[in-house]
Amino acid sequence: MPATDFQMTPEFDATIQQAAALVAGARSVVALTGAGLSVESGIPPFRGPGGLWTKHGEPPLDGYQRFLREPAKAWRERLNPTEGWAKGLKETFEAAKPNLGHDAFAALEAFGCCDALITQNVDDLHLQAGQQNLLEIHGNHYWLRCLECHTRFDPKTFEIDEADLPPHCPACDGIVKGDTVSFGEPIPPAVLRGCYAAVEHCDVMLVAGTSATVFPAADFPLEVLRKGGAIIEINPYESELTAVATLSLQGPGGAVLERLLHHVRAAGAGGVSA
Ligand SMILES: [Zn+2]
Repeated sequence: MPATDFQMTPEFDATIQQAAALVAGARSVVALTGAGLSVESGIPPFRGPGGLWTKHGEPPLDGYQRFLREPAKAWRERLNPTEGWAKGLKETFEAAKPNLGHDAFAALEAFGCCDALITQNVDDLHLQAGQQNLLEIHGNHYWLRCLECHTRFDPKTFEIDEADLPPHCPACDGIVKGDTVSFGEPIPPAVLRGCYAAVEHCDVMLVAGTSATVFPAADFPLEVLRKGGAIIEINPYESELTAVATLSLQGPGGAVLERLLHHVRAAGAGGVSA
């Protein structure tokens, strides 16, 4: 449902309060987010009506192989996009700002109630909101990564010589690529290890803006459930996750997460003392 049509009923608020009690009483809370969380920031989903790729065309399904074959060409396209999908993505991401949902997750973390946040999004909005322990399983649209040693580079401090593409890693001389995981590219092993380590300790998982049906994200809530933990779903509509979720909060991510944060703070939980 659009955020403007949303009414917080007392019943719904009571359910959010129940969710907050789970979060406040948890040993370790981990969040898992996807494209739905960024819709309120003006980033449409990729597919479906009004989708980014529906409008601008899809990126190639062999994007990673193409990069490996012609890295200099791929880099020229990155720096000065000519393809519709690449231009559309760049313009949409550059115009987007974190919304109440991103801010609420950063505040939950600062309050000691979000040990790690796993995101399928590449839009940088969790980072812009100030999230610290962030695991971007599909990479980050702005960042860069060495294909050999997997070191990630902040584009603000990484020098690129447009006359000598592709850039090489200062540490190992490997080829540097955009950090976004292309179609056909394996997920960098370090981030996957980080996800499984976080999930290992987690007994309450907040899943927001995703139905978590695609591997590897699909694995994480199921693993938490297998160990007897709780899943709290925050999605505007019923999803594949609703049937297995401990609590399902159906509403716009920004409003629901802001309210959840309010109740967690009221419960006075968290590992950080004032
Ligand atoms: Zn390297």
